[in-house]
Amino acid sequence: MTDVLSLAAGRPYLAIPGPSVVPDEVLRAMHHASSNIYEGALVEMVPGIIDDLKRVARTSQNAAIYICNGHGLWEAALANLAAPGEQMVALSNGRFGAGWVETATKMGISVDEIESPMGAPWDLARLSEVLRNDTDHQIKAVMAVHVDTSSSVRNDFTALRALLDELGHPALLLADCIASLGCERFEMDAWGVDLVIAASQKGLMLPPGLGFVFFSDKAAAMRDQMAQVSPYWDWKPRANPDLFYQYFCGTAPVQHLYGLRAALDLIHAEGLENVWRRHEILARAIWAAAEAWGQGGDLRLEVKDAARRSHAVTSLVLTPKDAPRLRVWCEENLGLTLGIGLREVPWGHEDWHSHFRFGHMGHVSGHMIMGLLGGVETAMTACGIEHGAGAIEAAARVLAQPRRD
Ligand SMILES: *Cc1c(COP(=O)(O)O)cnc(C)c1O
Repeated sequence: MTDVLSLAAGRPYLAIPGPSVVPDEVLRAMHHASSNIYEGALVEMVPGIIDDLKRVARTSQNAAIYICNGHGLWEAALANLAAPGEQMVALSNGRFGAGWVETATKMGISVDEIESPMGAPWDLARLSEVLRNDTDHQIKAVMAVHVDTSSSVRNDFTALRALLDELGHPALLLADCIASLGCERFEMDAWGVDLVIAASQKGLMLPPGLGFVFFSDKAAAMRDQMAQVSPYWDWKPRANPDLFYQYFCGTAPVQHLYGLRAALDLIHAEGLENVWRRHEILARAIWAAAEAWGQGGDLRLEVKDAARRSHAVTSLVLTPKDAPRLRVWCEENLGLTLGIGLREVPWGHEDWHSHFRFGHMGHVSGHMIMGLLGGVETAMTACGIEHGAGAIEAAARVLAQPRRD
């Protein structure tokens, strides 16, 4: 250790869109000796975990757990539904939408990607045309991302469901909710979504390492039509195990499961509706501050329409010179780590450097958001980055509002 004065000493705050802040309750629960994976407490705990996960996804249908990150989930979902050469269509408006398509393509699935510019609304008119032309229903599924973490846009699955219903097309509806599950409203069953994927390291407040696939009975039936499914990704034994080891296709992720139990307890003790409301109010405080900053400088929110902004992540645009300075200053001087931008252009392009992101998913409170905003204001002052006045006051007004509930 060197003897230097730094205001970064103290508890750090990782405000990036995943991995997210892990609650002390979860860390403590994970600090657990490895336990018997054949019988006893761990084995008895898993069915209840699955029920409580389904409550978060708002589904009463099926769930499978994988030991993987988000990229693994992309593959898990597709491996059960389509063989090489079979067809899907994808809506994409960001890096994660495009990433899921890349995975599908590498698996040999023939994907028609309907691409919109980053953060722009989906092109439902084009989707409608593609589905109408598919008169013999060769398209097995529509893949799309709920919150695309790159631009922080939130997409409208109810409109997408309504379109499929209107066309009477039987394609499954698949949703990547990795950034949004446990942060913002998503009603799998009520919205007629056939598959939802979610990872442990975002709204579920765990370290990376667990992946969840929730699937409808209709999706289960499509899986049963497959000539073969790769054994590790096959969701069927995981969702309906005869023996405990089948839940995980091998050794159970012991410590992650104790952590997951604790995280689900936190979510359900607060109440899922309250969790969603908290994320929304905190997001509104961030938007209010960003709008005030933008009155006197270059900073702006990437998604202009508030109704289409995520409550879990916020992408901001500054200049290619100032955004990296701001991030580095926050980390070195305040112990506050902001997310880098994530763009469609090659790494190193100016566009990457002009963007940065706040992660505000999961275990995030009012004082953390005020600290985040105060930290960014401090960094802009220290770095001489021009910005409008009154941002902290504007955020405070949002959080200070009396709540009816
Ligand atoms: C984080 C994220 C992923 C990828 O997750 P990894 O764990 O990094 O593989 C996929 N989709 C969305 C929407 C995400 O936010």
